[in-house]
Amino acid sequence: CYILGIESSCDDTAAAVIHNGTILSNVVANQEIHTQYGGVVPELASRAHQQNIVPVVHQALRKANIDKKQLHAIAFTSGPGLMGSLLVGTSFSKSLALGLGIPLIDVNHMQAHILAHFIKVEGQTAPNFPFLALTISGGHTQIVKVTNYFEMKVIGQAIDDAVGEAFDKAAKILGLPYPGGPLVDTYAQQGNPKAFKFPKPKVAPLDFSFSGLKTSVLYFVEKETARNPNFISENIEDICASLQYTIVSYLMDKLKNAVKQTGIKEIAIGGGVSANSGIRKALKDAEEKYGWTTHIPKFEYCTDNAAMIAIVGELKYKQGIFANKDVVASARLKF
Ligand code: ATP
Ligand code: FE
Repeated sequence: CYILGIESSCDDTAAAVIHNGTILSNVVANQEIHTQYGGVVPELASRAHQQNIVPVVHQALRKANIDKKQLHAIAFTSGPGLMGSLLVGTSFSKSLALGLGIPLIDVNHMQAHILAHFIKVEGQTAPNFPFLALTISGGHTQIVKVTNYFEMKVIGQAIDDAVGEAFDKAAKILGLPYPGGPLVDTYAQQGNPKAFKFPKPKVAPLDFSFSGLKTSVLYFVEKETARNPNFISENIEDICASLQYTIVSYLMDKLKNAVKQTGIKEIAIGGGVSANSGIRKALKDAEEKYGWTTHIPKFEYCTDNAAMIAIVGELKYKQGIFANKDVVASARLKF
């Protein structure tokens, strides 16, 4: 069957077509407008979604080489995310499903970041149940015990800032443009991870705290810049490498705790920060070091995309789990 996935939870408008586990098209329109504000402006995001959604869906259908009349269902992100952004995708998807007379499927964005692992990718195998998912993104940091496709339990999470937010806020302090996470990663690859030391906050064994890290980067940079005004530009690689090393080893510490507590050694990562080269390498190393089986998504299925919405749509379609016509978007949707 052919299923169209639509994602509009934050600042990316995305559409994808899936056919029996294989992605036929995966289109994302990024919104450049937010860069000048140093963060996502919700009102501008929903306006851009309104402009982008029709062309993005057309392009997804064209690239998949199918007509909309061939679709079997429409899957869309119903939350969590920015309300104004979610509303655009929700109302568009409802109208399209109604117009075509096909089922509508609501998808939880955070579940989709995890279930993206079930997209068929050459040379990769999907995780076996039960597995632990580390979801690391702009808005979330979670360790999830996944027993089946729709049986998931959050066993650890951020008590303040999300990890992607920590990357972006630290990057902002360093004068890097938004979103700074990928830039920190790029600089980190040229630097010495042991050059500077940042603290790893102590919280419950499976929980995370990142707001202190941002503050310590701020104080550190202020102190050093007072002595040498060019401190940041002269040391950007080492600062980024040290920062990334701290974050990655903190994430790995928590994963080790979760493995110890659950006895599960099958690990999958998801969310935008799983594009990070440091966490990817640390996970690969953990296969040999600790005997884990690790699953790292393809780059384009890490950050926000509609392919992950389409795969959840297909999994739900096969089980006959559909949304009612009165389904609503929910900014704080849980699972
Ligand atoms: P959520 O999924 O929680 O609703 P979101 O959808 O905004 O949040 P994603 O698109 O999944 O988040 O991820 C975006 C985040 O990933 C940003 O904070 C960005 O800086 C970060 N990110 C992307 N690539 C990298 C990288 N290579 N290294 C570090 N962070 C990265
Ligand atoms: Fe996301």
